[in-house]
Amino acid sequence: MHQPRTEPRESLYHDYKVHPFRRPPEMDGARIEHAVAIVGAGPVGLVTALALARLGVPSVLVEAEAQVSEGSRAIVLTRRSMEIIQSVGAIEPFVATGLPWKSGRSFFRGHEVYRMEMPHDDDDRFWPGTNTQQQLIEQYLVDAAEASGMVDLRWQTACTGLEQDDTGVTLLLDTPEGEYRLRARRVVAADGGRSTVRRCLGLRFEGRNYPGHFVIADIRADLDLPTERLCFFDPDWNPGNNVLVHREPGGIWRIDFRLPDDETPEAALEPETLAARIGQVLEMIGRPVQWQLDWATVYTANTLTLPDYRAGRVLFAGDAAHLLPIFGVRGANTGFQDAGNLGWKLAMVERGIAPEALLDTYSHERVAAAREICAEGGRSTRFMSPPSRGYRLMRDATLSLVLSQEWPKPLLHWRTSRPHDYLDSPLNTPPAGIDPAAPVPGAPVPDARLGEDDFLLGHLPAGFVLLGFADDADTLAALERNAARANAHGAPFSAVWVVPPGLAGAGRVVDALGRARARYRARSGDCWLARPDQHLCAAWHRPDAAAIGAAVGRALGLGLAAGSSGGEPAGAATEGERATEGER
Ligand SMILES: Cc1cc2nc3c(=O)[nH]c(=O)nc-3n(C[C@H](O)[C@H](O)[C@H](O)COP(=O)(O)OP(=O)(O)OC[C@H]3O[C@@H](n4cnc5c(N)ncnc54)[C@H](O)[C@@H]3O)c2cc1C
Repeated sequence: MHQPRTEPRESLYHDYKVHPFRRPPEMDGARIEHAVAIVGAGPVGLVTALALARLGVPSVLVEAEAQVSEGSRAIVLTRRSMEIIQSVGAIEPFVATGLPWKSGRSFFRGHEVYRMEMPHDDDDRFWPGTNTQQQLIEQYLVDAAEASGMVDLRWQTACTGLEQDDTGVTLLLDTPEGEYRLRARRVVAADGGRSTVRRCLGLRFEGRNYPGHFVIADIRADLDLPTERLCFFDPDWNPGNNVLVHREPGGIWRIDFRLPDDETPEAALEPETLAARIGQVLEMIGRPVQWQLDWATVYTANTLTLPDYRAGRVLFAGDAAHLLPIFGVRGANTGFQDAGNLGWKLAMVERGIAPEALLDTYSHERVAAAREICAEGGRSTRFMSPPSRGYRLMRDATLSLVLSQEWPKPLLHWRTSRPHDYLDSPLNTPPAGIDPAAPVPGAPVPDARLGEDDFLLGHLPAGFVLLGFADDADTLAALERNAARANAHGAPFSAVWVVPPGLAGAGRVVDALGRARARYRARSGDCWLARPDQHLCAAWHRPDAAAIGAAVGRALGLGLAAGSSGGEPAGAATEGERATEGER
């Protein structure tokens, strides 16, 4: 019988809530066919459940543990992740407690050799990074899931097996009161890097594991340093390796360093060894203050992905689908994009609005994204933690040069996780009649400042949104007429009109500063169609009702034959890469 830990985990800054096991109706003989079952209530399972709920689809979310994640793990949310969390209605606590930041400094042999400001536009509500510990991320999402009334969150319930047939999937679940079977039409595997679902289906990652072990130690300390990323290459106390320092909410600081190659993780986590190294880091940054350890762990770097995120009625998301290096804060941030992409497609298929083939486009779009991230994350990893003597020589030569030269400094850019543009998606309608430099189909919907604390993305309702710009009443009336007549094929569809102050009214947002118009390079009459995951999928000047309806139909995959998701995603693995399965 599955018996997860029921004593609250220890933490200096988070009061863990232990969730009881509640006996489900299936254990007393009820026969229920659920729409969607999600395995794993980590960040990705939770956002997927919220994305489904926003579009009216309930889900059962089974979670093996009785409480949220142990330790801070993913601490940096990117702007895109914050936008996705906003789109599923859970953003407020993240804004209230997160630490926004946008710059970082790198040091080599005691000299500051690189300073990077991540691009931040005054039109973006969220900063490039917002630091929030993973326990808090999960707690806020659990609160939102409970508040939605659409997510049946079953704690202390481990998936141990599954079978699928033509009409659904049966999960075998183990609980403190014994086993039961749960039937769902579709299953999302969001059960993390060691996914049971992936193992049960016999699926293997492709990609590579990198050598080297890294320690993360979270300490509480009173440090008068700003919220920024600090990176120290080759410090005296840890020659050849590097150290990262990040500030977290609650007076917590993350110290992250690579171990010498001949040292085991167990030896590195010995209290005296760890304490000595934390002391050396604090000395190095000139702040030898008192501190308390909150949590420590060891991790490795991998660039691994499944080649297909769909296995019949089972869809993979987050770490169950890919394992990415944390350099560049990729794991959870990539998983949120999976969840946003999958949530609406699953909802549309489940509601009978879109064909099954739409689910193949999830795999097509997100595997391509993961491969792009593996390539980029691999470059960051090779620089941060050279895997061979050759890479180390090149890295050290670059570092030596930046002491005296400007030109190699951009090589120290740490390539933060960024959103993937689905430029080659079969769901896109080619743009027509808009400025060539305007946002294109495939890109995330750009935000724009409407007022002091008022931004465009906050006004987008759930579902497909036609975002239209009109400067005069006649243009607005014509666009409104065409949108009202458009055939949305049963999908949730609404229009948001961006207008000057004189045209204010219901369904309209006032672009008093003209910033939305400028950011979209829009003329009066220009319109963009946004998918429910807030990626653009069409753009035109004065589209008629037929054009709008055709674009919604295309984005729903109505023209796709089963199994035709647009071909093999870009950057497919080479033969040599199709092998290793990594361990975290
Ligand atoms: C030390 C460390 C530092 C990291 N730092 C960062 C960072 O700074 N930025 C970043 O973006 N990412 C970071 N990551 C990665 C990030 O933590 C993961 O990418 C993220 O947690 C993935 O979310 P997920 O929901 O896919 O999986 P998980 O968070 O692993 O969640 C999976 C959930 O499924 C549950 N589960 C597992 N098996 C079963 C089962 N059989 N039945 C039912 N439930 C099950 C688990 O209990 C868990 O709750 C870090 C990871 C580590 C380990």
